[in-house]
Amino acid sequence: MKVVDHIKSAKNTLFSFEILPPHAGESIQTLFTNIAPLMEFKPKFIDVTYHREEFILKKRNGGLLEQKSIRKRPGTVAICAALMHKFGVDTVPHIICGGFTREETEYALIDLNYLGIENVLALRGDSIKGQNDFCPTPGGHAYASDLVQQIKTMNDGRYIDDDLENAIATDFCIGIAGYPEKHFEAANMTSDFKWLKHKVDCGADYIVTQMFFDNRKYFEFIERCKAEGINAPVIPGLKPLTSKKQVQILASRFHIDIPEELADAVDKCKDDKEVRRVGIEWAIAQSKELVAKKAPCLHYYSMGKSNAIQEIAQALF
Ligand code: FAD
Repeated sequence: MKVVDHIKSAKNTLFSFEILPPHAGESIQTLFTNIAPLMEFKPKFIDVTYHREEFILKKRNGGLLEQKSIRKRPGTVAICAALMHKFGVDTVPHIICGGFTREETEYALIDLNYLGIENVLALRGDSIKGQNDFCPTPGGHAYASDLVQQIKTMNDGRYIDDDLENAIATDFCIGIAGYPEKHFEAANMTSDFKWLKHKVDCGADYIVTQMFFDNRKYFEFIERCKAEGINAPVIPGLKPLTSKKQVQILASRFHIDIPEELADAVDKCKDDKEVRRVGIEWAIAQSKELVAKKAPCLHYYSMGKSNAIQEIAQALF
């Protein structure tokens, strides 16, 4: 079922979460075991992130260094299919522009369609690790809006090769990313909203936000969406803090603010066990307010760890 249909038919705020595919070579069983306790809270969908290639230097005989392209967490599409099969839950593979030509994206979408996956989250993706700017792959897309357009065109039954006969129309529900605290490359909120609206106008069905720790940012974001004529549902993304070092890591990696009150509370903690408690309580308070204000769905970022989400879900769902 499509994410937007889950939202339309829901009486209450829904529960969903995002997972990372296992590292290459790891068993899928560990992932199943980790998320099995969350299934009790009936997530309506699970997102699976996509991790683009990285370049590493490998020492060869004679001390020469060889540059190699590796993918640390492959398997997004297969994980989605496996989760659907194992738990009977809808899945949302993340599809990124970086690293793909338009043809490769089309082949990936064809695979998803055959697998019965009805949802995708269309993203530009970040720059390759070690590079400052995002460089589009030759023959690929520069912005998520271009990717949305490609998916929408397939939903209209048109593929890259317009000579295809009997090409079937796909029917993907398309999610996109939104940034209550602005995308870090955008010059200002006005331009970021302009491009967000453009993504929706290109055919996106719903928005999932970057994580935030201050609900006012989300409420202001949805007000501005309304003012800009963006009427797609906006799903808030939440992440419980679980260690002291995350305060800096999350702020710098995701370009978000950690409210002073939360940072001070974390600072006073003796160890990460205490931080985890503070982080979970903060996330529960955020979640309760979002439910009271009728957020369509609460979407939790697991970043590879699901037990904190379990405690939050227990308090909410
Ligand atoms: P875009 O919407 O293309 O925007 C990128 C920037 O360009 C913005 O500053 C925007 O204002 C500007 N812009 C947009 N369109 C135009 C235009 N036509 N002309 C000029 N400027 C424009 N990354 C991954 O690699 N894998 C994942 O699985 C993943 N999952 C994510 C899930 C969520 C919910 C979120 C919020 C982010 C996720 N990301 C993921 C990170 C994301 O790829 C990065 O934040 C990336 O830098 C931007 O992606 P986007 O889709 O928002 O890009």
